[in-house]
Amino acid sequence: MSYKVAVLPGDGIGPEVMESALKVLNRIEEKFGFKMELIFGLIGGSAYDETGSPLPEETKKICLGADAVLLGSIGGPKWDGLPPEKTPELGGLLALRKMLKLYANLRPAVIYEELRAMSPLSERVLRDKVDILTVRELAHGIYFGEPKELTDTMGLDTMVYTSDQVERIVRKGFEAAQKRGKKLCSVDKANVLSSSKLWRRVVTELAHEYPDVELSHMYVDNAAMQLMLNPLQFDVIVTSNLFGDILSDESAAICGSLGMLPSASLGEEISLFEPSGGSAPDIAGKGIANPIAQILSLAMMLEYSFDLNEAAAAIRSAVDDCVKSGIRTGDILSAGMTAVSTKEMADAIISRI
Ligand code: NAD
Repeated sequence: MSYKVAVLPGDGIGPEVMESALKVLNRIEEKFGFKMELIFGLIGGSAYDETGSPLPEETKKICLGADAVLLGSIGGPKWDGLPPEKTPELGGLLALRKMLKLYANLRPAVIYEELRAMSPLSERVLRDKVDILTVRELAHGIYFGEPKELTDTMGLDTMVYTSDQVERIVRKGFEAAQKRGKKLCSVDKANVLSSSKLWRRVVTELAHEYPDVELSHMYVDNAAMQLMLNPLQFDVIVTSNLFGDILSDESAAICGSLGMLPSASLGEEISLFEPSGGSAPDIAGKGIANPIAQILSLAMMLEYSFDLNEAAAAIRSAVDDCVKSGIRTGDILSAGMTAVSTKEMADAIISRI
């Protein structure tokens, strides 16, 4: 099997947390006896500064030639005034996502028992460890549907799904549930929207192929409420582009810190793995960023792109153990604790692998 990875550290805290993730990868390679080929590329503001483009041709080539892309983060105030196509966000990250034809976004949201105080939810709601995976359709739906029009007095968007498009993403949801707690909640608005009625029909038909997964359906307004009232009921949520955009941010918000949250965006051939947060310009260059989101993004890459499930589990269990042992960067610090640096957190994780 080929293990070719495009590594794009990017801007802000990106290079700092990427360095930590690659040290973890080193330890994992040693322990599990494989070697990945890493090819480094520029993206975002730092790429613009060096080449005049936030997604240089060289980077495109590197990514298209790889099996997976591991990204840090992009952006920062220095590049905010550029024309839209030159910005790290539009010209860099969105262009990269489009080029890779990503169609499924997977965002885990975990509230560790030891970090309950970081969550805006009350202890009454958080009786156990919250661990939700949102699987969001990424390539279709209302963001892309035609016709799309804006005049002085009218705005028009079209929410359209075909059964093939629904099937592809819903299968990802079922498969993810099979690997986890075997519960899938499909979120739609089938009481009002035709695209949701089709969505629900496809999900119901597919359920027969996954008898080991317990399926439920929920309207999106209720799902937004249930995430606040009883997040423990969820294992995997599968939903459309618009609903997933909102619900995955909501589930991230209940976790407390962006520094803990990884993400995966799956493409047909090449997938992209990156932290859920941004380049954190307020703490960049200080060596204090939490590397866990980047390290868990690496774990998702090992699992989803390379089927290295044991290696991914070893990383997650080392992270769990660090959190349990009270090792904290500044963003997840509780009263009476001392913060460790980015490097110290990475070393603590490595020593537990
Ligand atoms: P942000 O996610 O960068 O930061 C929000 C807050 O979370 C900040 O206080 C930051 O310090 C904290 N934070 C984020 N990651 C952290 C980590 N690993 N450890 C500790 N604290 C962490 O969001 P923002 O401030 O709105 O955006 C900053 C820049 O990042 C902007 O230019 C934005 O466009 C860009 N951005 C990039 C991505 C991406 O690369 N995928 C995503 C979102 C935002």
